[in-house]
Amino acid sequence: MTTMTYKHWRDVPQRSWRWKDFSPAEIACRGSGSLRINEEALDKLQALRDRLGKPLIVRSAYRSPAHNRAVGGAARSKHLDGTAFDIAMTNHDPVAFEAAARAVGFKGFGFYPRSGFMHIDLGPARQWGERFPVREAAFAMETPPAREALA
Ligand SMILES: [Zn+2]
Repeated sequence: MTTMTYKHWRDVPQRSWRWKDFSPAEIACRGSGSLRINEEALDKLQALRDRLGKPLIVRSAYRSPAHNRAVGGAARSKHLDGTAFDIAMTNHDPVAFEAAARAVGFKGFGFYPRSGFMHIDLGPARQWGERFPVREAAFAMETPPAREALA
C-alpha cells in the first residue's frame, strides 16, 4: 500500500485520485491544506460509503503535526498517518454506522456524542468515549385517543 504526502491538496494529480465520493480537499489537513494519502485507509472509507449508501460528512481526516497540536490531538494520533477519520453522525444511525465500519475493516473507534461525530481508524483495535444514546423515534409515538368524559 502506498502513502503519498502533498504540501497542498491542489497538488494531488487527478489521475491518482480514485475515491469517487471524496475529494482531496475533504481529506486534507484543515489547518494547512496538506494531505497524506494512505490508500488502504481511503479504500476502506470508500467501502464504508458504498455500504451505507449515503454521504459521509468528514469533520477531520489527515492532520499535519502543527494542526494536530493546535486542536489538542493525541501525540500519536492516527490522524497524523492519514488513517483516521472523524465522521459526523448528523445523517447516520451511530449503531448502524459502527457496525458497517467494523465490517469494512476499521478497528479503532472513538465516540463523541456531545460533538456529534465518531472517530474511526485502521487500528490497533480499541475504543474510547461514551456511546451515543440510543435514538428515540423521530416523532411522537402513536397512542389511542383518550376517552374523555365531557360535561
Ligand atoms: Zn479522530
